[in-house]
Order: sequence, then C-alpha cells, then structure tokens
Amino acid sequence: MRIYISADMEGITGLVDADDVQPGGRDYERGRLMMAEDVNAAVRGAVAVGACDIIVNDAHGPMRNLLPETVDPRARLLRGKPKQMGMVEGLTAEHDAMICVGYHARAGTLGVLSHSFMGHEIEDMWLDGRPVGEIGLAQATAAAFGVPVVVLTGDDTACAEISAWDDSVTTVAVKYAHDRFTAQVRPADETRRAIEEAVSARLSAPINPPATPPTSSTLAVRWQSASVAATLLGIPGVTTKDSRTVQAQGQLPALYRQFCVWMRVATSLTNQPPYC
Ligand SMILES: [Zn+2]
Repeated sequence: MRIYISADMEGITGLVDADDVQPGGRDYERGRLMMAEDVNAAVRGAVAVGACDIIVNDAHGPMRNLLPETVDPRARLLRGKPKQMGMVEGLTAEHDAMICVGYHARAGTLGVLSHSFMGHEIEDMWLDGRPVGEIGLAQATAAAFGVPVVVLTGDDTACAEISAWDDSVTTVAVKYAHDRFTAQVRPADETRRAIEEAVSARLSAPINPPATPPTSSTLAVRWQSASVAATLLGIPGVTTKDSRTVQAQGQLPALYRQFCVWMRVATSLTNQPPYC
C-alpha cells in the first residue's frame, strides 16, 4: 500500500498563532516538533495496517519545517522548494490514498489561521464556481490522479470544510476554533492517538476510488491586488472576471500547476511569499 501524506502546519495540534508556524516566530521551533508528532502519528497508523511506501510532503511555507531526524524513518520526506506542484508535489496515480495532516480552513472563514495559499494576497478562490481553499483544491487534484483523500486532520472548521466538500473523508479535529488565532486545544497525547487510530481504521477498510473529476475545470482567484490580476493576464489562457479576479480553464492536475505559477508571479509583485 502506497500512502501520500501532505503536511501543513496551521492545523497541527496545539498551534494557534503565526508565532507558532512562521520561521523566526517565538514558538516556531516548538511548532515544527509538534508538526512532526502529528505526521508521525499518521505514519504509525499507516504502517500498522501494512503501508510499505509512505511519502511525506512538507507543504507549509518554506517547506523545510520538518527536521528530517524528527520524522519516522519509515516515511520518506519531501523537503524544500520550489515545488512545481506545491502542496501535492510527488503525488502520483500509483498512490493508494492521500492523508492531509495539519490542514486549515480557507480564506474568509473563522478557522484557526485560515487563509488560502497566501496570507494576504488571495481573497477568495472558486473551482467550477464553488468556493475552494487548500483543502478542496488538494482533494480535487488528488481525485484527478485517481487518489482519494481518506483522512484529514486540523481544527474543527477544516474538518467541516472537507466534510462538506467530500463526505467520505475521515476527520480528526485536533482543536476547536474560537477565533482566527484562538482555539481550545486537545491534549497532544489524545490527538496523536486519535490520528493514529483514524488512519489505521480508514486504511484497513476498503478504499473506494474518488468520483471521476470533470475533464475541464475553471479555477478563479480573487487577488487583493489589481496589479497581480493585470500581470497574470499576460499568461495565455488567463481571462479576467473583474479588476482583481482572474480565471483559467484546464484539467487538473495541470491547472493546479498553473496556479502555482500564478502564486510565484504574485510573490514577485508583492514581496509576500505564499505560506500555504
Ligand atoms: Zn501552511
């Protein structure tokens, strides 16, 4: 069984603030160790039911949050950037299932550290007219590879977001959002056990392939900056909806890859790096 783990940081056990998840933040060094523990719980759960090929993609910010020596050696770590496919780098049709660890709700929702890919630059996104963030886009891109997302961990708003998007996904809420930087956090021993058990239980049940995605999708992104939108119009196939919203049509996963290029353009114009 081949398992792909995409690990973000905002939805990790105990973490609630930018200081916990951004390099240089007061509690970042502790946050990255907490991240490794949630990831390792998922790895243990997968190994326990026979997974023999596990890849962990560090999908947050600089994508060098997980220290290799802190990750369970039964998994292979994909570390650093750039990554052409960002949060789903290394995912292929050969994987049997995808697990999202430490994910967070999309921009505009009252979830812990909620945003969509970039902290300030992306106001909203839609996939085929449906509001989407990192969670929905990860699920849809995995589905395009024929790989189902089977487990997602994060705060309760992230769990609700994936459940509304794909109700077959098992969720583990590691904290309960009170506001964007405030949560009631579950004890770490409890969440790590819950993650391990959820992964084992889900992977030992039959894994159904995801619903076949459409052959063509439309991704629309509303930027804070009209300058970003205007610049992106220079890319063939990109059209405008209004002065700050651009869209493109195509097939996932290629559309996801193009979106990663859009973010690089936005970063170069605004000096705001994506932190996913
Ligand atoms: Zn992140």
